[in-house]
Amino acid sequence: MPAKRTATKPKATPLPKPPDRRRFRTRLLTWYRRHGRDLPWRTTDDPYHILVSEIMLQQTTVKTVAPYYARFVARWPTVAALAAASLDDVLRAWAGLGYYARARNLHACARAVVERHGGIFPNNLEALRALPGIGDYTAAAVAAITFDAPAVPVDGNVERVVARLFAIEEKLPAAKATVKRLAASLLPARRAGDFAQALMDLGATICSPKRPACALCPWNESCVALALGLQETFPRKPRKREGKLRRGAAYVALRTDGRVLLRTRPSSGLLGAMTEVPGSAWAHDFNIAHALGSAPRLRTNIAWRRLPGLVRHVFTHFPLELAVFVAGVPRATPAPKGARWVKVLDLPGEALPTVMRKVLAHAFETK
Ligand code: SF4
Repeated sequence: MPAKRTATKPKATPLPKPPDRRRFRTRLLTWYRRHGRDLPWRTTDDPYHILVSEIMLQQTTVKTVAPYYARFVARWPTVAALAAASLDDVLRAWAGLGYYARARNLHACARAVVERHGGIFPNNLEALRALPGIGDYTAAAVAAITFDAPAVPVDGNVERVVARLFAIEEKLPAAKATVKRLAASLLPARRAGDFAQALMDLGATICSPKRPACALCPWNESCVALALGLQETFPRKPRKREGKLRRGAAYVALRTDGRVLLRTRPSSGLLGAMTEVPGSAWAHDFNIAHALGSAPRLRTNIAWRRLPGLVRHVFTHFPLELAVFVAGVPRATPAPKGARWVKVLDLPGEALPTVMRKVLAHAFETK
């Protein structure tokens, strides 16, 4: 009779020991000293400059932000200068960066710092958080970087690092509180600003969403996700639901004297106070057959012509497709109420969001 075979359980991968917090901090700070990114806003500890960089960096890459940041702080070098600027000018300087509510909030914040604090940034989290447009993340970033306050700004990059380091099984966004608590548990008693920036850099350059460079990571000896071989599966997230497609029409009227018809969007809501060409509402059930019903009323009979193709743009919560109509009109045509004629040569100075720049590019390239 053959001998009975006993089933042996596969040996589980031993998990790293709970992190030795002090060693962790030292390793990260040493790595940061050697490999931290050389960024334009790292040469200052002026809270206003740090705030501008942090607000610009929300949902935008460092590469895109760098030239905008340099122009912005050269034009408005102090919080008082920004407070004295017109919102229109600020929106123009922001055009192309997207998420324009950030520019409006930054401007409102500058005014609040001047009005409530005499132009001096408060140096504690509570007072920073009470300023317009400053949430937990931005308050923690400004407080840690400029005042060395004991705070860890937790953005998507930091969330990813911490979720992997501790292999947090809870799904985002519910896991945010756990991530914040564990991130705070790593904070050193001093050099909170360096620690925050080191963590940001680790997330941005090493612990990337896909194929993290774990071999180069200063925390690879203690990372639980790495030990499990499951780095890319953290942070755990619920399945993504894409926004429903919206459609609409945009109307590019060009006068024979080289001016294009523009208007300003309502001050609140999506792309609030930004400039646009007249257009229809953006709706799931937009019917192209009725598109000309929402074309601007011009005091002349003009023939709108639909251009081939569509302009596509993806907002954070929905994708958009716009049909573009063009028309040439005589130079004496007045602008309808709420609209204005703007020289084509002056378009770069207008606060046109990216979607409208795409519409105009499509019109000028295809007409
Ligand atoms: S070891 Fe890898 S997964 Fe873990 S924190 Fe470092 S880069 Fe991220």
